[in-house]
Amino acid sequence: MTILRPRHLDEALAELAAAPAALVAGGTDVFPALGVRQAPSRVMDLTAVEGLRGISRNGAGWRVGASTTWTDIVRTDLPPCFDALKQAARQVGSVQIQNTGTVAGNICNASPAADGVPVLVAMEAEVELASVSGTRRLPLERFITGPRRTELKPGEIVTALYLPDRDAAVSRFEKLGSRAYLVISIVSVAVILWTEGRIVIGARVAVGAASPVPMRLTEAEAALKGRALSDLSGVVLPHHLAALTPIDDVRATGDYRREAALVLIRRALTGLGGTA
Ligand SMILES: Cc1cc2nc3c(=O)[nH]c(=O)nc-3n(C[C@H](O)[C@H](O)[C@H](O)COP(=O)(O)OP(=O)(O)OC[C@H]3O[C@@H](n4cnc5c(N)ncnc54)[C@H](O)[C@@H]3O)c2cc1C
Repeated sequence: MTILRPRHLDEALAELAAAPAALVAGGTDVFPALGVRQAPSRVMDLTAVEGLRGISRNGAGWRVGASTTWTDIVRTDLPPCFDALKQAARQVGSVQIQNTGTVAGNICNASPAADGVPVLVAMEAEVELASVSGTRRLPLERFITGPRRTELKPGEIVTALYLPDRDAAVSRFEKLGSRAYLVISIVSVAVILWTEGRIVIGARVAVGAASPVPMRLTEAEAALKGRALSDLSGVVLPHHLAALTPIDDVRATGDYRREAALVLIRRALTGLGGTA
């Protein structure tokens, strides 16, 4: 087995162009998924690559490095629009998982129940991909194409996520699992609202674990626009969730997931109305 541990992005991309390698960041998805199968013969550990970790201002928005861990997110001083991402970060597995699990790992693993994805979809994240041919960016909603499927091409590495400036917005993440921690979401919800004089002038609502890829509910977002922040609990109605396609599985039925998603959205909205 060859383990590569490049320190520079150019070096990593050149190695990948020369021969394929399985990419690993925290390894919290890769290694459990291996089970008893043999590890790939060529593995690239991305955690030493400079410039891939941390959150910084980028022009009018924010750059979240691909290898930023959930603990990094919790510990970084960030505006309220990041509250939902921090809440999700605190609910990814356990503290040990949060210390090593990364943002890029969460999106590239492309689980419909990934907790970071609905928040980042609601934040309208763009994914930056690098290869020896250059870089490209695409919206996270387009990057993840289905369960365990992404637009990542051979030879590419996710280098960062870019988020638009919503610093004045408030946000909230709600997760339903069979217990409070170390649990895969039955359903999860992210809500971001920005206001003027306590009237909602913009909203983003995204739901995880209720469709092949966590998705925004644009009809719910439209219904929230123009409403008073203090009176949002009854604005989102069952028909606003019509685009969701929740499945029956060992964790819950599709009907239960749909109903739970509505309850979580209303809970998030009530919470935001009380705090903003
Ligand atoms: C006990 C346990 C509990 C968990 N609980 C949760 C939970 O509650 N919620 C949740 O959402 N997840 C949970 N997870 C899953 C996991 O911890 C997260 O998805 C985490 O963010 C994955 O990050 P990682 O760095 O460990 O990914 P890795 O395992 O290193 O990689 C995952 C995938 O991403 C690819 N990859 C990683 N970095 C890059 C990059 N820069 N460019 C291209 N591809 C890349 C890898 O090739 C691989 O396909 C849990 C896992 C465990 C083991």
